[in-house]
Amino acid sequence: MQHKSKLLNVGTTIFTVMSTLANTHNAINLSQGFPNYPSDQKLTDLVSNAMNSGFNQYAPMAGNLNLRLAISNKYQLLYNSSYHPEKEITVTAGATQAIYCIISAFVKQTDEVIIFKPAYDCYQPAVEVNGGKAIPIQLSAPDYKVNWEEVATKVTSNTKMIMINSPHNPSGTIWSKEDMLQLQKLTEDTDIIVLSDEVYEHIVFDSNQHQSACLFNDLKQRSFITASFGKTFHNTGWKIGYTCGPEALMEEFRKVHQFNVFSVHHPSQKGIADYMQDANTYLGLNDFFQHKRDLFLSLISDSKFKIKPSQGTYFQVLEYSEITNEYDVDFAKRLTTDFGIASIPLSVFNENNQDDKVLRFCFAKTDKTLVKAAEILNKI
Ligand code: PMP
Ligand code: GLN
Repeated sequence: MQHKSKLLNVGTTIFTVMSTLANTHNAINLSQGFPNYPSDQKLTDLVSNAMNSGFNQYAPMAGNLNLRLAISNKYQLLYNSSYHPEKEITVTAGATQAIYCIISAFVKQTDEVIIFKPAYDCYQPAVEVNGGKAIPIQLSAPDYKVNWEEVATKVTSNTKMIMINSPHNPSGTIWSKEDMLQLQKLTEDTDIIVLSDEVYEHIVFDSNQHQSACLFNDLKQRSFITASFGKTFHNTGWKIGYTCGPEALMEEFRKVHQFNVFSVHHPSQKGIADYMQDANTYLGLNDFFQHKRDLFLSLISDSKFKIKPSQGTYFQVLEYSEITNEYDVDFAKRLTTDFGIASIPLSVFNENNQDDKVLRFCFAKTDKTLVKAAEILNKI
């Protein structure tokens, strides 16, 4: 049987490639982004309670209502922004499923979607498998700053969507208020939808503020925000997230969501809803991860890597041109097999696999693991 692939240029995701290599070689795995410590026992107890008290059948299609209320309260508390729990919030199987369904609900043949590179790897395939055309805008290391005049030249009558992501995976940069205002101005009086991937909203360092799309009135009217409890509550394997957006857009989203998963793991939703009654469960995250970033950076300050401190996310990028001229994928693999430390090469997220000699390291690890990792990095 012969068939032509719908995604000719897509192979196995780098996260699977590097984690598999790390496991095979028993390397310290700072590649795929996930914590190596448990999430709060109180949260796992609340999910167990939910299972033991009967929350084991389908959740409502848009999500457990208590969870949607808790999410709505969070937006009110943090951003003074209102999302109607019944009409404007949908619980999803992680941010990945939300992103896929948002794109699938709106992007048709010949529609263009602007994607800033380096970009998280699920964005472009989701556009292409739905027949859309990705319009890349490559940002330059080490600052990854957006040139808004360049962006303006990429907007056409076919632009359906602009995808943004701050705090940014993989670079660890954040967008300023000015960036958001520029985006708002650019999209004013258009029908462009903004997909704002904010999965790291609670991980911003050095007293900076997260600039959520919901803080900008006109932007909010055209934006889906996506979020992930996996990042916030240290349980990436549960795959629970959500999206919020204006009612009319959400109606279209749910047309796809209902036939994609219908609804997601109910006991986790109930447990998270109960857990979120205390806002401190997510408000302390900046400090928690700033400690880890600062520890990691202080431990490797004398290494040969060039460091620009991460502004947000739980990733730190390191430039290695003083060490070797090797292609970043080869170097990342060699570090795993020969030195016992796994990272993610950034070229896989860049347009045409542009190689800036940059690797991404995840510092959502125990302090002990970070100390061991730094010992290795200092010897390279
Ligand atoms: N967007 C970004 C930028 C991410 O880093 C991730 C995963 N780490 C996701 C989306 C997907 O989140 P989830 O695991 O909840 O599907
Ligand atoms: N988001 C995680 C990262 O950036 C990985 C998610 C995945 O493995 N699909 O590392």
